[in-house]
Amino acid sequence: MYIIIDMGVSTPNAFIRTRKPLGLDRHFMERALELGERARGNTGDNPHVGSVIVLGERVLGEGWTSEPGQSHAEANALLAAANAGHDVTGATLYATLEPCSFLGRTPACALTIVASGITRVVYGIRDPHPRVNGQGAHQLRRGGLEVSEGECATEIRASLAEWLRGHRNAR
Ligand SMILES: [Zn+2]
Repeated sequence: MYIIIDMGVSTPNAFIRTRKPLGLDRHFMERALELGERARGNTGDNPHVGSVIVLGERVLGEGWTSEPGQSHAEANALLAAANAGHDVTGATLYATLEPCSFLGRTPACALTIVASGITRVVYGIRDPHPRVNGQGAHQLRRGGLEVSEGECATEIRASLAEWLRGHRNAR
């Protein structure tokens, strides 16, 4: 929906000026959300997460959660970038959920991201898992990365609603 504020200049040009430009973070997080949906139903008790690695406006790698015990979305996006021969130094990683911070069935994504050369992480919602819950962000910041939380949070909460409900019941 577009709102023309100054009715006195409601020419076609004025109409275009009042359109809110689509932010890059929002654009790539929407892509991550789409990728996460590809994993829905195949992740066991893990959340279905999507991830995109971007340098400038160029996508270097994309990933989503593998089956239980296999790689998480962020690791898959890094692998895709490496397989395509891309250097991710200085790139931004988008993930729908906060990267995990502990060694479980797979290495901690936060530490893998720090080691990769990525310098900025944008994630949608915090992982409510008691062993993550802000620790992923903390590890990323401690590694010198810029971290931002909250992009597309409402849409991501809706996408992961069932998993988030299960989490609350488990505690
Ligand atoms: Zn992970």
